[in-house]
Amino acid sequence: MKNEGVVRAIDPLGRVVIPKEMRKRCRIEVGDPVEFRTEGGQIIITRAAQGCVFCGSEVSVDHLLGQPICLSCREKVKKEA
Ligand SMILES: [Zn+2]
Repeated sequence: MKNEGVVRAIDPLGRVVIPKEMRKRCRIEVGDPVEFRTEGGQIIITRAAQGCVFCGSEVSVDHLLGQPICLSCREKVKKEA
């Protein structure tokens, strides 16, 4: 797919809709945290890393009570409970 620019207007509160196709291509789902940074006068939006809340690992991360947790820490939590 060609990387065409899409023009969207920013609303009075500074919000803008990220086109669905771009979110899909970048694997950004509803509710995912995104990170903003500026670079050379441009705003870069990236999907924020959702590492395990206990160890920071991004491998085998699932969610427990809405928080990201890796499989290893999930097993440790299970043993502690
Ligand atoms: Zn972990």
